[in-house]
Amino acid sequence: MTARSWSGKEIAAEIRRWSADRAAALAARGTPPRLAVVVATDDGGSAWYVRSIARAAEKAGIVCDVVDLGADASAKVLGDRLDALSRDPAVHGIILQTPLPAGVSAAELAERIAVAKDVDGANPASLGRLVAGLPAFAPATAEAVVTLLEHHGVALEGAEVAVVGRSTVVGKPLAHLLMDRNATVTVGHSRTRDLPRVTSRADVLVAAVGRPALVGAEHVRPGAVVVDVGTNPTEDGGLVGDVDADAVSGRAEALTPVPGGVGPVTTALLLRHTVEAASR
Ligand code: NAP
Repeated sequence: MTARSWSGKEIAAEIRRWSADRAAALAARGTPPRLAVVVATDDGGSAWYVRSIARAAEKAGIVCDVVDLGADASAKVLGDRLDALSRDPAVHGIILQTPLPAGVSAAELAERIAVAKDVDGANPASLGRLVAGLPAFAPATAEAVVTLLEHHGVALEGAEVAVVGRSTVVGKPLAHLLMDRNATVTVGHSRTRDLPRVTSRADVLVAAVGRPALVGAEHVRPGAVVVDVGTNPTEDGGLVGDVDADAVSGRAEALTPVPGGVGPVTTALLLRHTVEAASR
């Protein structure tokens, strides 16, 4: 068996088309959707990511302001700018890009993003609302995983899903989104005893760790679906996921590629969230 490669490009294009149509309608009514991306780093990977969001936004007819406050910006400068953007009626979506300067807490700063504009679900209040079943934007990457699975027709109800990684941006919100769809979810992390024993029960395995080749054949139940969230830069300027694709491809039914899997869906969802925020 060779695993099928489940690209995210097709569903991402569908979401981008929907967003562009809605953005055009909003612009025609005098409210062009506007996204602000607040940056305080000179990290190259981050700059590449921000450029790709800005390009995708502009293509969809969403105005994108990259607000670069410099790698030495203080928590006060960042917080004040997030307050101002939260108050600005012309701005509909706000993303706080990481990494942030040393000593600046991402969670504390994200509290300054108005929940209604929190298109990447970064404000802890958004996560709380999500868990409580109240309307809020989910972190785009976590939602992208579920969107990709549903697009490929995976029945999550009653399925055993193992998520490896418990970060606030990916693993934890993803576990909630999956539970909301009636999956039985197990979350693994760096202290999990015998990770392969836990993950090899799963119908669906999601790797969101940030370590190349962490997931090998021994982690995967034959016939399982494997979603690779990891984005790890390689020395030659490329990108690899957390899954050893060669080893896993002989066991899994399907595997999402890196790049071209979860990433494009994440970017497309940020656009959709911005358009939804502007529609309110
Ligand atoms: P993170 O905050 O560093 O969290 C990593 C998680 O992996 C932690 O929960 C950690 O466990 C766990 N972990 C570390 N080593 C492990 C091991 N040996 N075995 C099992 N679990 C282990 O990372 P993140 O922000 O969630 O990002 C995860 C990956 O997704 C990164 O590669 C990131 O670049 C990528 N990402 C991709 C997208 C996209 O759109 N495609 C978006 C966001 C992130 P502990 O909690 O015990 O430390």
